[in-house]
Amino acid sequence: MFQEIPASEKNIVAFKVSGRLSDADYQRFLPRLVTLIHKYGPLSVLIELEDFRGWDLKAAWDDIRFGKEHDNDFRRIAIVGAKPWQKWMTALGRAFMSAEIRYFDRDQQRDAWQWLRENDEDETPASDQSASIPALQPYQHLVAAVDFSPHSEYAVARAVELAGHDDAHLSLLHVVEYIAYPYYDYDTLMTDTYDFVDEERQIKQIADERMHALAAKLDYPKLHHKVLWGEPEHTILSYAEAQNADLVVIGSHGRHGLARLLGSTASAIVKRARRDISVVHLPDA
Ligand code: AMP
Repeated sequence: MFQEIPASEKNIVAFKVSGRLSDADYQRFLPRLVTLIHKYGPLSVLIELEDFRGWDLKAAWDDIRFGKEHDNDFRRIAIVGAKPWQKWMTALGRAFMSAEIRYFDRDQQRDAWQWLRENDEDETPASDQSASIPALQPYQHLVAAVDFSPHSEYAVARAVELAGHDDAHLSLLHVVEYIAYPYYDYDTLMTDTYDFVDEERQIKQIADERMHALAAKLDYPKLHHKVLWGEPEHTILSYAEAQNADLVVIGSHGRHGLARLLGSTASAIVKRARRDISVVHLPDA
């Protein structure tokens, strides 16, 4: 499955690739890339591999044919994933011959984005960056992670205040966790007596409705919202990078971590983030 992660630049497209890619996945996704190329010219691409298990033969062919037809339409391709998947980089490299391709480990998300963005920006000499501590700038874009628990809804309220203070954009993100998809073949799931895929679709629909309802309650002009599939900690950080957010707001606890000092998602984000994080505690919780 391909899932687009909205990026803050129009000529950079980011997507998460999970499971095993079929021809149908490509038929849905490639037209989107073509539209973007026609609209914005050559693209830079971030491909994030999450539990990626390769291509069907027909899909691999789509990939190579598409790469050949659009050889000059890609500038840089960053592939982000866990180490064993480095081999996919070589395969993709064959498809997109003239683009520059680099592999980044999961913890190097930020480097990957910097590398893609550097293409369009004037580079600042290193000496300027290290000469002094930069003055604190107002935040421009906040991402608030919402799991619909009271903790996260309180964190969202704080995020609205913080964003309002700096007249910043605020993007709310909810991550729907896979029930079974990463662990089984898609075909097996469809033919099983229990239809996990349908169940997942329903969960996503409920999440979308809850997100719309939450956004409608908040009176904030620069509000955006998104629901994505994935593993929460990783998807929150990856979305924050794609949005080039300068502050991520999370609740200290949520549906996972009530028993601990800091919830499990919260502590993983605090440990791994390379952006400012605000961990909001619900009073008396
Ligand atoms: P936890 O550490 O899982 O108890 O959750 C701490 C905080 O992480 C929550 O208050 C949310 O801000 C965020 N969070 C946890 N799970 C999700 C999710 N599935 N989607 C979005 N945010 C989440």
